[in-house]
Amino acid sequence: AAKEAGKNCYVHFRPEMLAALLERTQLTAGLRRAVELGQIMVHYQPVISSDRLDVVQFEALARWEWDGELIPPDDFIETAERSGLIREIGAEVLRRSCTELAPWLAEDPFRSVAVNVSGVQLQHRDFAERVLDIAAWSGVDPHQLVLEVTESVFFDAHSHVIGQLETLREAGIRVALDDFGTGYSSLGRLQDLPVDVVKVDKSFVSMLHTGTEKLPILTSMIHMAHSLGLKVTAEGIETPAQARYLMDHGCDALQGFLFSRPEPAAARERAVRNSVAAIAALEGVPLPG
Ligand code: C2E
Ligand code: MG
Ligand code: MG
Ligand code: MG
Repeated sequence: AAKEAGKNCYVHFRPEMLAALLERTQLTAGLRRAVELGQIMVHYQPVISSDRLDVVQFEALARWEWDGELIPPDDFIETAERSGLIREIGAEVLRRSCTELAPWLAEDPFRSVAVNVSGVQLQHRDFAERVLDIAAWSGVDPHQLVLEVTESVFFDAHSHVIGQLETLREAGIRVALDDFGTGYSSLGRLQDLPVDVVKVDKSFVSMLHTGTEKLPILTSMIHMAHSLGLKVTAEGIETPAQARYLMDHGCDALQGFLFSRPEPAAARERAVRNSVAAIAALEGVPLPG
């Protein structure tokens, strides 16, 4: 009977499973080659301070340049995590961000660069050390570095995950909780997490249509974060009404296609100009200075 069952295992391995496996294997091989050939690129999206009405941060977003096309992270990050390649990709994104933005960061200590970090990277015990090494190597002040993590890195997190984030924070690096509001942990847990900033997920921002509606969830998220001493960034802002509402309700920083899409480093100045123009065009925004 056991032999029969064994045979059945082969029968149950359907052709589409093989296809999926092959596809993943090929994706992993292609990704490995891309990492070796330096084909993982970084695009940067501006983040605007509500106080300064100016770009104070760029978020680094990975792209895979393949055959003249740019493959978005949603198509390869999961494969990178599964294969462990995320470690090299994460390090490369950080190196590139620090190198490409070093001149911009050096102009103003208030400026920062934010890099997304996967939970798989945090599982490695030398993660904090590697991050601090790259900062030192590139000459970027750790106070100008933000690491974005999602709530999932804290699920059944080994104590060394928390420990590493604490080490990094002691060195001046800030931690942002990305996609805030989409996770499953209770909001009350927020006060126990080693984070400095919450990034309100774009699904909440997209609930804003007219800018005059009442959105108690959104406003209480902002208030709660503030009462815990955290800063709040809203992501996915696409309309002036959304930007206006979020500024009026105390959001510290704003990010979204309304200001600029993610762009290569070479387009940085244009991205800043467009962002500043978009914020100046908002009705009722006082002029800076
Ligand atoms: P995320 O960190 O939450 O980044 C925000 C995503 O929303 C980006 O997509 C950005 O291009 C997009 N976005 C920004 N503004 C708007 C807007 O106004 N409207 C809409 N509809 N979308 C907007 P992207 O670049 O495709 O990245 C997707 C996700 O991939 C990121 O979400 C992040 O979780 C992950 N990712 C990107 N780069 C890296 C990386 O270097 N390492 C890791 N581990 N993950 C990364
Ligand atoms: Mg992010
Ligand atoms: Mg996000
Ligand atoms: Mg995300």
